[in-house]
Amino acid sequence: MRDPLASKDTRFASDNTAGICPEAWAALREADQDSCPSYGEDALTARAADAIREVLGGDADVYFVFNGTAANSLALAACCQSYHSVICSDVAHIVTDECGAPEFFSNGTKLLAVRTADGKVTPAEVERLVTQRSDLHYPKPRVLSLTLPTELGTLYTLEELRALAAVARGHGLAVHVDGARFANAVVSLGVSPAELVAAAGADVLCFGAVKNGLGFGEAVVFRNRALSNEFSWRCKQAGQLASKMRYLAAPWLRGFEGGLWLRNAENANRAARTLASRLSALAGARVVRPVEANSVFVELSAAQHQRLRSAGFAYYTFIGGAARFVCSWSTTEADVEALVTTLTTE
Ligand SMILES: *Cc1c(COP(=O)(O)O)cnc(C)c1O
Repeated sequence: MRDPLASKDTRFASDNTAGICPEAWAALREADQDSCPSYGEDALTARAADAIREVLGGDADVYFVFNGTAANSLALAACCQSYHSVICSDVAHIVTDECGAPEFFSNGTKLLAVRTADGKVTPAEVERLVTQRSDLHYPKPRVLSLTLPTELGTLYTLEELRALAAVARGHGLAVHVDGARFANAVVSLGVSPAELVAAAGADVLCFGAVKNGLGFGEAVVFRNRALSNEFSWRCKQAGQLASKMRYLAAPWLRGFEGGLWLRNAENANRAARTLASRLSALAGARVVRPVEANSVFVELSAAQHQRLRSAGFAYYTFIGGAARFVCSWSTTEADVEALVTTLTTE
């Protein structure tokens, strides 16, 4: 659990500090054949794409890329001309954590960030940004980008998503969903993945799996196939066309078997709920956001921060202005206990 080099305890720093789940490892091992068609022409990649279509309940074009930044950036670039803009929340990963890659890959498409209280964009704000200007000096809104669950660990309800999708449709905006933690949203809302993407009116979903137990490989899923024109060339040019694509695809297939991907996400969400309830009971600690997925945001006393730091716990405080603890597919009750015990031990 501890990183021997940094001697940091990274268990709660992010869900990408967790390892690869055993089933995904096994799938990689089994995919390791002597010879196989390259660049996604293989049977495993085709089957994984079929499995994604089946899970999402409809026709779609599916592409595998190495990581979430590439998935988001290339998906947005596919939706936009350079003079377009993308409406998103001010804490959206595409704004705060992708080093300008969405703008870079779209040759300058502008991100229009909406100030939000809880990471959630509202229909009124979208409406305002789209209608406040229509002249040609303003970057023309083309996409509404939603993160499910948000970077602050909150979730849109299906009704909220339907309202946002209606505003987007009304103004001719495509809907992009950053689903780096899509599985966590699905299990938390208790809906089917198909219902969720339909409610959001998602034209393109960046379907994450790395944070849910894979080592690499996110999927870009175009439910609106008109937007995926020449997308393979975009991936290749961006250095995102895996020559041995089967290794990206095979763990996905295994993840869908028997609902493993949902169990992994449920483990993470459950651990976050447990952690939140334990933290709420501590004097000096205050959980500051609803815990609707696998992240817990909590204000701690200076002494509590000090205890965690002395014990070597790594965690971020720059997201949402509080300490963020993220649970993963591998978080155990003992992990939660270790954090709480550290906080309470003088
Ligand atoms: C982790 C994450 C991503 C993907 O990040 P990469 O490090 O590029 O894989 C995208 N969006 C959100 C909301 C994330 O949390």
